[in-house]
Amino acid sequence: MRGLSQRVKSMKPSATVAVNAKALELKRKGVDLVALTAGEPDFDTPEHVKEAARRALAQGKTKYAPPAGIPELREALAEKFRRENGLEVTPEETLVTVGGKQALFNLFQAILDPGDEVLVLSPYWVSYPEMVRFAGGVPVEVPTLPEEGFIPDPDRVRRAITGRTKALVVNSPNNPTGAVYPEEVLKALAELALEHDFYLVSDEIYEHLIYEGTHFSPGTLAPEHTITVNGAAKAFAMTGWRIGYACGPKAVIKAMADVSSQSTTSPDTIAQWATLEALTNREASRAFIAMAKEAYRKRRDLLLEGLSRLGLKAVRPSGAFYVLMDTSPFAPSEVEAAEKLLQAGVAVVPGTDFAAFGHVRLSYATSEENLKKALERFAQALQ
Ligand code: GLU
Repeated sequence: MRGLSQRVKSMKPSATVAVNAKALELKRKGVDLVALTAGEPDFDTPEHVKEAARRALAQGKTKYAPPAGIPELREALAEKFRRENGLEVTPEETLVTVGGKQALFNLFQAILDPGDEVLVLSPYWVSYPEMVRFAGGVPVEVPTLPEEGFIPDPDRVRRAITGRTKALVVNSPNNPTGAVYPEEVLKALAELALEHDFYLVSDEIYEHLIYEGTHFSPGTLAPEHTITVNGAAKAFAMTGWRIGYACGPKAVIKAMADVSSQSTTSPDTIAQWATLEALTNREASRAFIAMAKEAYRKRRDLLLEGLSRLGLKAVRPSGAFYVLMDTSPFAPSEVEAAEKLLQAGVAVVPGTDFAAFGHVRLSYATSEENLKKALERFAQALQ
């Protein structure tokens, strides 16, 4: 047997996907487990979206789509980015992908040459550095600190810029910290992109899940330098439909679509028609998002209160549905702590692959009942 490629051998599989699969497997075997692993809404996809998929099926909309997406959805995306994000884009400057993940993957394939550096703010979502490396690039970590609420310091970012810097990845609201970056910080980062002529990759997948503060799209300040990535998964509880989207400079978007044309051809056609409904039936979608957001806010408060009662430290998140919990009261390392919590009946993601050492990530996209149960088990594990 001939071996595997160096490229794939040096790639780590996704910790979030792996830990979640493990939790599901244990549950299937009948283990009594509360899973705080998945970055996935526990709500069902709203009915108006499902109905649109049924309609598309009935109408035989089951064939290939263009690599960049069906024109109707790209038009709706241009309108969405204009209306919700203040980004002046045409449909040709938008792209539909197989989840937000493919948008990011294709983007790094499209912009990176070997040795190009990409600034990644840590703690980071596990897939950014791996995707950068897979495309031949070099991820350069710029820390954000718990004592600063995990808000990036633009001066620290500036100091990490070199002649090889090709891009900076920004993710607000943030996975895994839950931080929502203030507008002035995002403006300062956009200015750095303009001044040093690198791309700003703005992952805005959690834009609708903000409990304090407001969302700001830095692409409004640096439209020729910014690729804005988003998707249907988190806002419309559509994780399994695999529809992501992006907008940015036409040449970059075209290159990203070319990568799709040689890999996936196009995203799922039925799911694209369903996403069109999610984006254009604004009244129904707004009501769904408002309902989900209120539920997450209550869950966050319940979880934070419970953690503080147990004397467990966590920076209060303002968005997304994650909390990073300090694991020092449980064990010397986050990996041992996650193992101990698993023994106690709670599955969490160790912070290691997020570069959040000494922490585990808790997802509160689960019922209040599950969160209460998890807190009881944390208490037992502490004894
Ligand atoms: N983004 C989610 C998470 O961080 C889903 C899993 C993944 O694709 O990483 O849990």
